[in-house]
Amino acid sequence: MAELSLDGVSVSYAGTVALSDVDLDVADGEFFTLVGPSGCGKTTTLRTVAGFETPDSGQVRFGGREMTGVPPEERDVGVVFQNYALFPHMTVAENVGYGLRFHRVDDPEARVAELLSLVDLEGFGERDPTELSGGQQQRVSLARALAPEPDVLLLDEPMSALDARLREELRREVRRIQTELGITTVYVTHDQEEALAVSDRVAVMHDGRVEQVGTPRAVYREPATRFVASFVGENNLFDGEWADGGVRVDGTTFEVAGVAEASGHATLCVRPEHLRRDAAENRFAVTVEQSEFLGEATRVHCDWDGRTVVWRTDGVVPDRGAEVTLGFAPEHGRVL
Ligand code: ATP
Repeated sequence: MAELSLDGVSVSYAGTVALSDVDLDVADGEFFTLVGPSGCGKTTTLRTVAGFETPDSGQVRFGGREMTGVPPEERDVGVVFQNYALFPHMTVAENVGYGLRFHRVDDPEARVAELLSLVDLEGFGERDPTELSGGQQQRVSLARALAPEPDVLLLDEPMSALDARLREELRREVRRIQTELGITTVYVTHDQEEALAVSDRVAVMHDGRVEQVGTPRAVYREPATRFVASFVGENNLFDGEWADGGVRVDGTTFEVAGVAEASGHATLCVRPEHLRRDAAENRFAVTVEQSEFLGEATRVHCDWDGRTVVWRTDGVVPDRGAEVTLGFAPEHGRVL
């Protein structure tokens, strides 16, 4: 079994806390993504799993086996880093074959050919890495990491040096290969859209801690914290308080469904795509300030008594300065 777990893992670098009491459970064959802003501890988590960092406290386990003290080369992990890290003096085939150096394989040439085919690079074996595009080089890195058939694949921002279109293409390819092999995978990215698109589950990290773990759908629809609500997708966050069975923001009371009523402070979250001009409920008047055409929709920045409200619409966009009444259905309001 190749499930892996982190239990109360903390790591610091000369006084800087990089990870603080991190618990994670990744299931066998799962595509699990660590997502969060720069410096939140994603790479440190990955390096700790790989064995390049030793936790100050806590345990890392592979299939229930404690990994403390086990060096990286004995952990059965394949790692792909951000920079391709290919050997320039070796051919593509030699680079992929390098991954097999500590492993007994009956027919290494056949294995290399099989891996090049898996990453869609048949016939590229004799080329130098310098003769490949960035996306192709990263496929070679992936093939090299997969060569010894590791139990766990770790990918640290493997697409970040590529342009947007290539990134999308390669992430689909990585997901296809991962599904085909059924390999337990931990993927690191700061790009929340990428995380939602490829993962079985994501862990949203912030300041060395895990804020929420869940399926992309759950994390997007039911953010557990203010940070997750604003980091994963766009959101409007209004500070108010519980009153009259809803959330009152200044003088306006908004009705929300499916939430146990409470008292005191409440943060109301409404996604830009849930704001509608024709909504029958929860209406409030805003002034249009700026709009950005996105192709399939337009993002409209509005002012609501000094607060910025983001509204996404595929309908007619009012001119700058226009007064518009927006609203949302009670089931689309989330309260934190
Ligand atoms: P990025 O997306 O920018 O790569 P990250 O989420 O992967 O960021 P980490 O690289 O894990 O974040 O860093 C977590 C924290 O630990 C940061 O505050 C960082 O400055 C610090 N840190 C990381 N590596 C070292 C190091 N070798 N020495 C000192 N501090 C470090």
